[in-house]
Amino acid sequence: MEKTFSGRVVELVPGDITRQAVDAIVNAANSTLLGGGGVDGAIHRAGGQAILDECRAIRAERGECPAGEAVLTGGGGLPARHVIHAVGPVWRGGDQGEPELLASCYRNSLRIAAEHGFQSVAFPSISTGIYGYPVTLAASTALATVASFLSSEPVAPLRVRFVLFDPVTFATYAGALEAL
Ligand code: ADP
Repeated sequence: MEKTFSGRVVELVPGDITRQAVDAIVNAANSTLLGGGGVDGAIHRAGGQAILDECRAIRAERGECPAGEAVLTGGGGLPARHVIHAVGPVWRGGDQGEPELLASCYRNSLRIAAEHGFQSVAFPSISTGIYGYPVTLAASTALATVASFLSSEPVAPLRVRFVLFDPVTFATYAGALEAL
């Protein structure tokens, strides 16, 4: 399923983000940047030591990466050429700035992609696993933020793919994209 915004495409696919041959995949990282479970663990396992070494170097230089922000590394052994490590908010009931932090995660990732001239970027469903963000709310914020960036920024990727790991998450994003 896909929709076009100012000639730029948002598409939804089921599957595993570590298999995507795009300019950059986005990792749902944690503030330490040192790896974790879920999609983070899968990306580091599939991409190898080079990605973790780069994350360690960034962390040594700049410290932890706060929620809402993102950093860039190479793609190591992945089919993707780069990884944008974005830190999503932990869900704490919804009145602790979670929607704004989630939106900034997507915006900052797209800003990094635009700055580097990336044409294709793939996102997972940030924060809806271990971080507990309700999928329905996350899907509408994620898609509205990406659609608004693609519609309004002079420089943006031509194709943004959401790679959704389980059928419920895929169906929820499909409903939210339809409604947009
Ligand atoms: P967070 O800590 O931000 O909640 P998680 O990795 O726990 O991140 O979960 C985010 C989403 O990523 C969940 O929907 C989870 O099912 C999904 N996910 C897990 N592994 C993969 C993968 N290999 N490719 C794409 N999505 C994945």
